[in-house]
Amino acid sequence: MKVRTRFAPSPTGYMHIGNLRSALFAYLTAKSMDGDFILRIEDTDQERKVDGAVEFILNTLNMMGLNPDEGAEKGGNFGPYYQSQRLDIYKKYAEKLVEDGYAYYCFCDEERLEKLREIANARKVPFTYDGHCSHIPLEEAKKRIANGEKYVIRQKMPKEGVTSYVDTVYGEIKVENSTLEDQILIKSDGFPTYNFANVIDDHLMEITHVNRGNEYLSSTPKYLLLYEAFGWESPIYIHQPLVIKADGTKISKRNKDDNLMDLISRGFLPEAIINYIALIGWAPKDNQEFFSLKELEKAFDIHRISTAPGCYDIKKLEWFNSHYIKEMDDEKYLNWIKPFLKFDISNKSDDWINKLLLTYKTHINCGEMINDVVKNFFAKSYELDDECKNFLASDEIIPLVIEKFASEIEQINDWNTDNINIAIENTKNGLNVKGKLLYMPLRIKASGFMHGPELDACIYLLGKEKTLENLRK
Ligand code: GLU
Repeated sequence: MKVRTRFAPSPTGYMHIGNLRSALFAYLTAKSMDGDFILRIEDTDQERKVDGAVEFILNTLNMMGLNPDEGAEKGGNFGPYYQSQRLDIYKKYAEKLVEDGYAYYCFCDEERLEKLREIANARKVPFTYDGHCSHIPLEEAKKRIANGEKYVIRQKMPKEGVTSYVDTVYGEIKVENSTLEDQILIKSDGFPTYNFANVIDDHLMEITHVNRGNEYLSSTPKYLLLYEAFGWESPIYIHQPLVIKADGTKISKRNKDDNLMDLISRGFLPEAIINYIALIGWAPKDNQEFFSLKELEKAFDIHRISTAPGCYDIKKLEWFNSHYIKEMDDEKYLNWIKPFLKFDISNKSDDWINKLLLTYKTHINCGEMINDVVKNFFAKSYELDDECKNFLASDEIIPLVIEKFASEIEQINDWNTDNINIAIENTKNGLNVKGKLLYMPLRIKASGFMHGPELDACIYLLGKEKTLENLRK
């Protein structure tokens, strides 16, 4: 049987790192077993629906290379792939359950439910529906519906026994049926709950492996009872550990380190994001760290997903990103990085701009960072930070080094890195200084930073005039 997995987002906002991890693991589960990856839009919560979210999901998957084989927009033989277009299907199956005695119509109004909630609160026990309407004969219920009474459809849980299953990640999960609530399957507005729709859709779409967050781990037995009631075979479950953040805050669509749109617009590369996200909660057999998507498709193994919460750390993502920036070929890098540059470059030559950007290629961990590291090449003057100031004041020879170097620079006629290196060498020999005392003052005075690319390259890019101006300031 062909493996089929699905990513089933609710279009309630933009995608964050956690959502992408769900999509990626579903994708990799399918691809590691030559299967198909399906996109289903779970848009039954009309109130939480956000305009544009579906488009963003589609664009994000596309940008990340996680292209569905089938699903929303793409189409396929198991559609519609939007749950809001499947209401008739859910209704039909829910009614079948009612006929077969596995579900019932419930007419309890908000007032009654509120009372039950209050009683539960007072007793300090979790609220569960008391099964009040499960005793109404079906004929009577149908009459009440025909009379226009509002109703929901609830699942009738067995009162005895145990339901269990083996989750791929968490192992055996067991619940006492007596603890299960008669959950709502169809709401009074005719929309299904997640608890019902996931079962119907996963079955009808022939999903073989269900990847989803571990918040569903303990409600899965309820879904299994539905499979049983229908006489259907249940899929394999792969519940995935939560993604937590290194700084202890919660992943949020509104946080710029978590929101994919923000990350991409700040110059994080899809390859880097995919590579890093794959390693949150999953580990390869060996210590390999860098994986292309194609390599992940081969290496991924559902049995190596961890139960420990995966930790998302933006610093680690920056580290992966800088690796992928370094790996880019120069031409591709230049095309990618240029749009991030926000300085006026109209009076600079293409050659100079390209040299500048290439010089800093190995010094940035995301696209927009280029502005921080090259800003002093565009600034009229710069402010030194305390670390720089302290260093300049740390030794009496430093002013002499700077002046000697300035006078050497002044004498250069042919502006190139060879001559700049000769000027450095002459400064070194003339004052008998070397190492940090030689290089650091020159770097700080010329570029305004303590760290950066090769000194000769920086000074070359600054130009003779600007270098002298900076040195003598
Ligand atoms: N629509 C659910 C969510 O966004 C999906 C859960 C699932 O994958 O089954 O949380």
